[in-house]
Amino acid sequence: MIDSYLSRTRIAYFSMEIALRSEMRTYSGGLGVLAGDTVRSAADLEMPMVFVTLASRQGYLRQEIDAKGQQIDHADPWEPDDWATPLPDAMAVTIEGRNVWVRPWLYEWVSPRGYKVPVIMLDTHVDENDLHDRGITHRLYGGDDAYRLKQEILLGIGGEQVLRALGFKIETYHLNEGHAALLPLALLRRGDDIEAVRRRCVFTTHTPVEAGHDRFSYEQVAHILGEFLDIDQIKALAGDDLLNMTRLALNLSSYVNGVSLRHAETTRQMFPGHRIHAVTNGVHARQWTHPAFARLFHDTAPDWDVRPEALARVIHLSDEAVWRAHEEAKGDLIALAQEAARQSLDPALPIIGFARRMTGYKRAGLLLSDWSRLMEIHHLFPFQIVMAGKAHPRDEGGKQLIHEITAQAHHARIPIAFIPNYQMDLAKIIVAGSDIWLNTPLPPLEASGTSGMKAALNGVLNFSTLDGWWLEGCEEGITGWGIGQEGSPDDHARILYDKLENTILPFYCKNRSGWIGMMKHAIAKIGPVFNTQRMMRAYASEAYLLHVKDATDQSLLTGE
Ligand SMILES: *Cc1c(COP(=O)(O)O)cnc(C)c1O
Repeated sequence: MIDSYLSRTRIAYFSMEIALRSEMRTYSGGLGVLAGDTVRSAADLEMPMVFVTLASRQGYLRQEIDAKGQQIDHADPWEPDDWATPLPDAMAVTIEGRNVWVRPWLYEWVSPRGYKVPVIMLDTHVDENDLHDRGITHRLYGGDDAYRLKQEILLGIGGEQVLRALGFKIETYHLNEGHAALLPLALLRRGDDIEAVRRRCVFTTHTPVEAGHDRFSYEQVAHILGEFLDIDQIKALAGDDLLNMTRLALNLSSYVNGVSLRHAETTRQMFPGHRIHAVTNGVHARQWTHPAFARLFHDTAPDWDVRPEALARVIHLSDEAVWRAHEEAKGDLIALAQEAARQSLDPALPIIGFARRMTGYKRAGLLLSDWSRLMEIHHLFPFQIVMAGKAHPRDEGGKQLIHEITAQAHHARIPIAFIPNYQMDLAKIIVAGSDIWLNTPLPPLEASGTSGMKAALNGVLNFSTLDGWWLEGCEEGITGWGIGQEGSPDDHARILYDKLENTILPFYCKNRSGWIGMMKHAIAKIGPVFNTQRMMRAYASEAYLLHVKDATDQSLLTGE
């Protein structure tokens, strides 16, 4: 089963979440979708990679919106047996002094040309474990700190052990976010020195938001991880007071990157003394393009789906063809809004789409913050709004936000559809069927953002604060619009309203061919760059050859 992968695989990518398909609930949001798009592009590019994640049998969160407009949290179970193959090699990881048994599942992603990439999913739901330990890999981002630490031990230490037991010979480990930062400790424990470990590890950090960096007390670490390594050695690498997973990964990786130019800059300020590179995120073009646009692209650029650079040719498409494809995508969104939110939308009026994790810094409420102003604009240029997004079960602020939005949707004279349970399949419809894709993060907290890249592939025009990837993708009035160049964050609502009223909505109503021209520019300029094919080529040439580069440097030094 696994043998055909062993001799060719050199790189292992570790991620707490990977969005492979909607039915497999092994992801929560942007980080997982990025990892999934990474798998898809690795297969297209026939890269020698294996991916490791948790089985997350109970998923992350199924969001129900109750009659009062409040989020109700449910588990979101799935059955690995329906999609993956159990591998016979179970093995034990020590947690709280006990043996916790882990079974790996194999999921194979197959590219259109037939190249397969293996994804190993770690599962403690086996008979050998007591009830408690069976649950360790059940719920993604669930439970308390102790639960999180156990999951991270499973991912980093268990994952390294499982790959080795299966017979993989890994040269480079890519830690996708700090969750996997215990992996290099496993390499240290095997006797590699710090330099040798660093040479093999690549670390991508994904957020400047403090809560995104896991920290554990050393008391807890000693209790759960035991005497894995000398605690003073861990403290020297991960911080004196608390074990900081980001610091650990920073200190044990020789290539570290942020996920946009701006985010790399922010990360340098947060962690002075470390060399931080930038590899801007992307999306997998075929995954996120509506079938109507995919057909169009195929006619002008037949290899666009594996070589998204070819999308530059889209600029030559006829206005009629582009608008027809858009109408088809918009029709799908209108049907979804009717079905999932019982809201009718008018195909003749513009749809403003906003869908992402509901949390403070993303400022989902900004558009609705001045209701009378919004009504005035709506009176001049009618529009409609589609929103979606989950709040983390412990994020009370995020839940409050959802409640406020759904309450406004209920009373408003502006049509607002809040579509419950945002996930990959719904995202595909929402990002493709909107006219304007709105994003309002508080700079500099959006490390990259990716949904706007998906929107652009479908000719949906971005209207966003200048943060993350949009600082690189925005050409004002050509690929989309920015919200506030300098201005203080307090100005953002005013700028948003002014631009909607004076620039964007009049343009949509009065200059349709100009609008379609911008749609083509968005596809032709954003599509070829902000995709995971380009991103993976950057990782391959800049990060994954570290062990080779280092060996070369050594031989130069010694004159061999
Ligand atoms: C793309 C995607 C995200 C990430 O969107 P951002 O713009 O980065 O916030 C989150 N969730 C789902 C389901 C997605 O498809």
